[in-house]
Amino acid sequence: MLTCPTCKAPHVVKYGKTRSGTQNYKCRECGRRFVEHPTKKYISPETWAQIDKL
Ligand SMILES: [Zn+2]
Repeated sequence: MLTCPTCKAPHVVKYGKTRSGTQNYKCRECGRRFVEHPTKKYISPETWAQIDKL
């Protein structure tokens, strides 16, 4: 379930899209707007393990 990254509340609603087409959400608890996926690309645990070795 999608939760607010700030207050962790599950009360989020769709709130339009960014210029790049990413779905925007808004938290109904704290009012913060955020996107479902952060701008950073998802890093798998395997990749993190390699980063730790460097
Ligand atoms: Zn919130």
